[in-house]
Amino acid sequence: MCGIVAYVGRKIAQPLLIEGLKRLEYRGYDSAGIAVIDQKGAMHIRRAVGRISVLEDALQRVPTLPDASLGMAHTRWATHGAPTEANAHPHTDDTGRIALVHNGIIENYAALKKFLTNKGHAFSSQTDTEVLAMLIGDLYADMQVKNQVLPGTSLLQQAVQAALHEVDGTYGIAVICKDEPDTLVVARKGSPLIIGVGQEEYIVASDASAIVEHTTQVVYLNDNEMAVLKPGSFRTTTINNITISPVISQLENKLEEYELGDYEHYMLKEIFEQPSAIRNCLRGRAEQKESRIVLGGIVDHTRELVRAKRFILTGQGTAWHAGLVGDYLMEDLAKVTTECTYASEFRYRNPLVEEGTVVVAISQSGETADTLAALREAKEKGALALGIVNVVGSTIARETDGGIYLHAGPEIGVASTKAFTCQCVVLTMLALFLGRRKFMSQSVCHEMIDGLCAVPEQIERVLEQSDHVKQIAREFCDRENWLFLGRGYHFPVALEGALKLKEISYIHSEGMPAAEMKHGPIALINEGMPVVFIATKGSQYDKVISNIEEVRARGGKIIVVATEGDTNIHKYSDHVIEVPHALEPLQPLLSVVPLQLLAYHCAVARDCNVDKPRNLAKSVTVE
Ligand code: GLU
Repeated sequence: MCGIVAYVGRKIAQPLLIEGLKRLEYRGYDSAGIAVIDQKGAMHIRRAVGRISVLEDALQRVPTLPDASLGMAHTRWATHGAPTEANAHPHTDDTGRIALVHNGIIENYAALKKFLTNKGHAFSSQTDTEVLAMLIGDLYADMQVKNQVLPGTSLLQQAVQAALHEVDGTYGIAVICKDEPDTLVVARKGSPLIIGVGQEEYIVASDASAIVEHTTQVVYLNDNEMAVLKPGSFRTTTINNITISPVISQLENKLEEYELGDYEHYMLKEIFEQPSAIRNCLRGRAEQKESRIVLGGIVDHTRELVRAKRFILTGQGTAWHAGLVGDYLMEDLAKVTTECTYASEFRYRNPLVEEGTVVVAISQSGETADTLAALREAKEKGALALGIVNVVGSTIARETDGGIYLHAGPEIGVASTKAFTCQCVVLTMLALFLGRRKFMSQSVCHEMIDGLCAVPEQIERVLEQSDHVKQIAREFCDRENWLFLGRGYHFPVALEGALKLKEISYIHSEGMPAAEMKHGPIALINEGMPVVFIATKGSQYDKVISNIEEVRARGGKIIVVATEGDTNIHKYSDHVIEVPHALEPLQPLLSVVPLQLLAYHCAVARDCNVDKPRNLAKSVTVE
C-alpha cells in the first residue's frame, strides 16, 4: 500500500515521477503528491486529494513546477488521518527544508509528536509520517549547529539515520533536503523499496512497475538498510552506517506485461491471462512424459519436506483462500496433516511449532505485512519456511528457505485473479511432489499431471462464456445480498467468489460450506436473493442438490456453476454456467473463473471502479 517513486539524475524529474506514480496507483489512491528541488535549491511541492489525474491537473496550473532533476512522489493509502490535502505526502518539517514520502506506519508517532511539540514544532497534518519528517528536520538543524558531519557522509544521511533509531514501526521512505540539492536518501524497514540503477541516474520505487521503463538493473534494499544516491554515485549502508556492497539484480518482467493493452480493465485482462499464466507456472515443472513434478526452489529440502509432520499454510485474503484449497490438496494427495491459517492470527496467538513443521507463506506481492510477520514468527520458532509468491525478489521470496514462484506475470488489478489460480496450481504441484515421494502411485500422479496440463485449455472454454455470465450479472447486480455455497474443494471457491463480489461491486456477499447454511445463514434467504452454488459432478454432488432445493423452497434465485453436459442440474436452477469436467482436486481452478467474471460484470454494471475499488489497495504492506 502506498506507492513511492523518487528520482535523482540528469533528466527532468517531474514527467518521470508522474509516469512512475501512475504505474503505482494500484497501491493506493487516496491522495497524491510530488516534491522537487530545483537547481537553485528551492523546494516545490504539489499535493491533491484523490487520483493522480487530479494531481496532474494541479500541475498544469500556474505556477508550474520548474525543471528539476531531484524529486519524489507518492500515492497514498491512508492509515493515519483522513485523505485530505493536508495529510497527503510529501510531508515536510516546519522549516520546509526537509521533505519525505513514506510507506508504512510510525507506531510511536504519538510520543514523538508530543516530544517535538514540546520543543516548539508546529504540525499541520494528522499523519504519523509528518512526525518523521519533523524529527529528521529537528535532528538536521541540531547537527548543523554542532557542525557534526562525519567524513564521507551527508548531513541528511546522518539526520535520517539518527531519526530512524528513534522510530518504531515500518517504513519505506525517500527524503530530500533543499540544502543538499543533489542528494536522495532512501531507507526501508518492513515496506518494500527497490533502487533502479541507470546511467548516472537512479529511480527508486515501491515496486518494479515504476522502474522497468528506465532500467532493468536493480538493487533490492533489505530491512534496516538505506542508500544515499547522487547523480552518478550511490552508497548503501545499514541504518547504523555500516557500508554494504550492493547486489545488482536483473528485473524479469517486461514493460508490456504492465500495460493494459486492448482490455478495459486490468482485472479482465488478468482473468483472460489465466490460461497463459498457468502454462508459465507449469512450464518445466509438470513433466507429463515422466509423470514427474520438478520444483527447483524446494528440491534441496526434499528429505525434510517428505518427513514433515505438519504443514501450516498461511496468507491473507485471496491468498488465504488458495491456502484453504491447498489444505484439502495436501491432506488428500500428500497425506500430511495440514492447516491453513490467517497470517494475522498466526503471529499473535503464540503458535505451536513442533519439530517437523513446515510453514508456507502465500502472497502475490511477497510483501504482505501480516504474512511476512507470520513467516518470521515461524522461522523464529524453528519451522522450515517456504514461500509461494509471484513477485521475484520480493521480501518473502528472499526470507524463506525455499519456495515456488507463480510466474503469473505482474498482477495490477487490486482484486486478485490469476494469482489465485496460479497459487492453487503451485499448491497442487507441491502436494503431488510430496505425495509421489510418499504413497502416490505413478499412475495416479500421471493422471493428475495430465489433468493439470489440460487446465489452461479448459479455462479458455470457460472464458468463452463471459457474455453469458454478463447477462446473469446484469439481471442480479442490483441485489444487495448474495450467498456463495460449495462443499469440499469448492468451499474455498465459494469464499473467493463472495470476496471478489464484495471487493469490487460493494455488494454484501457471504461464502460458506453449503451445509453450514442451515446453521444460521438460511434465515437471510428471501424471495429473489441470488444464491450461487458450485455443483460440479463429484463426490458431493447429490448433497449440494439437496442444499439447492432448500434454497429454492425459500424463494432464492439459483445460479449454478455445473459440469458441462449436466442436463439434470437445469431442473433446479435459474441460471447455469458450465465448466469442463476435471478431477476433483483440479475443479476449483475451473469453477472459480465464472465467479471472477460474475464479480467483474456486476462491478461494471454498477459503474464501480473495477481496478481501484473503494478503500482497497494492492499489496497490503501495513499490519
Ligand atoms: N502512514 C502513512 C499515512 O497514513 C502511510 C500509509 C501507508 O503506507 O499505507 O499517510
